[in-house]
Amino acid sequence: MGKTKTKDNFTKKIRRGDTVRVIQGKETGKQGKILRVIPEDNRVVVERVNFIKRHVRPTQRNPQGGVIEREAPLPISNVMLICPGCGEAARVGMREEGDEKVRYCKKCDVTVDKG
Ligand SMILES: [Zn+2]
Repeated sequence: MGKTKTKDNFTKKIRRGDTVRVIQGKETGKQGKILRVIPEDNRVVVERVNFIKRHVRPTQRNPQGGVIEREAPLPISNVMLICPGCGEAARVGMREEGDEKVRYCKKCDVTVDKG
């Protein structure tokens, strides 16, 4: 491992469908699946985490109006992948296996999946 400081490319390490744990912010400790990655904002939407309430004006289809809740994006740096190998929130690295770049868990060294 070199010591060259490269900017962590979070958006390559967290993908849609990953299970993550929130490690910072008011939702700390919650877990969920990544529903969406928004690379241009460095944000992710995590299933059932960071709900915000939005008031909806009455419309013809929904004459009552009301409040809907939905997930708001979180900074991607606030979440950590839960490693399928060791089951812990782990840092993910990238390495080459054969011709392919794969993600691996820095804790247990298990290959997470193909990159
Ligand atoms: Zn692991």
